[in-house]
Amino acid sequence: MPADRSAARLAAPAGFGRRLRAWYRRNARDLPWRRTRDAYQVLVSELMLQQTQVGRVIPKYGEFLTRFPTLQAVAAATPAQVCEAWSGLGYYARARNLHALARRVVRLPADPAALRRLPGIGPYTAGAVASFAYERPAALVDTNVARVLTRVFAPRLDPRSAAGRRAAWAIAERILPHTGRAAYVHNQALMELGALICTARVAHCGRCPVRPVCRSAGAPRRPRTGRAGR
Ligand code: SF4
Repeated sequence: MPADRSAARLAAPAGFGRRLRAWYRRNARDLPWRRTRDAYQVLVSELMLQQTQVGRVIPKYGEFLTRFPTLQAVAAATPAQVCEAWSGLGYYARARNLHALARRVVRLPADPAALRRLPGIGPYTAGAVASFAYERPAALVDTNVARVLTRVFAPRLDPRSAAGRRAAWAIAERILPHTGRAAYVHNQALMELGALICTARVAHCGRCPVRPVCRSAGAPRRPRTGRAGR
């Protein structure tokens, strides 16, 4: 995603990251994929969450990892067997891509650029695996994060537009902490805020930790569509 320098200049009201990360440490949900740094397990969770809600993913995530505990186990199976284990989640292209990926590599790389060359891994998923599994300072932007960042930093931009998406990536890269551990918490926190507080249906500004520095706080807005999986 190309950087948008004009949008990047909009970024960084003081205290945003500090407020965000402090809130996350107090309010983060205990989700199974947050208990692991195994890159394969992180990837499975990210693929499942792309189109499916958290409540449906949790039991399937455990079942899938029991049947396919490693990337090697996926590679040894047939595409049909992987799709069978994926049943109930839909969007089977994700399962087929996981199988194709497992046949390409025995270990997931930590570098986002290398991850993006693998089947089914786009910019968001590459950032998520690099950040959540390897604690690399890699930015990530999905629908929830794009919505949060544009509301906070660039309220005139629609996060669903190409310009809004470019701006969100530029802002995400600019505000990312430089150390991997802080970047991990920061990325998780952005996604959690989009899932729980600054949602597509309603912005709960009254209980939002970044309200003092948000340029959209309390503003009336039309409902926007959002990512289902978080
Ligand atoms: S103050 Fe409101 S609009 Fe701004 S990030 Fe928080 S919930 Fe979203």
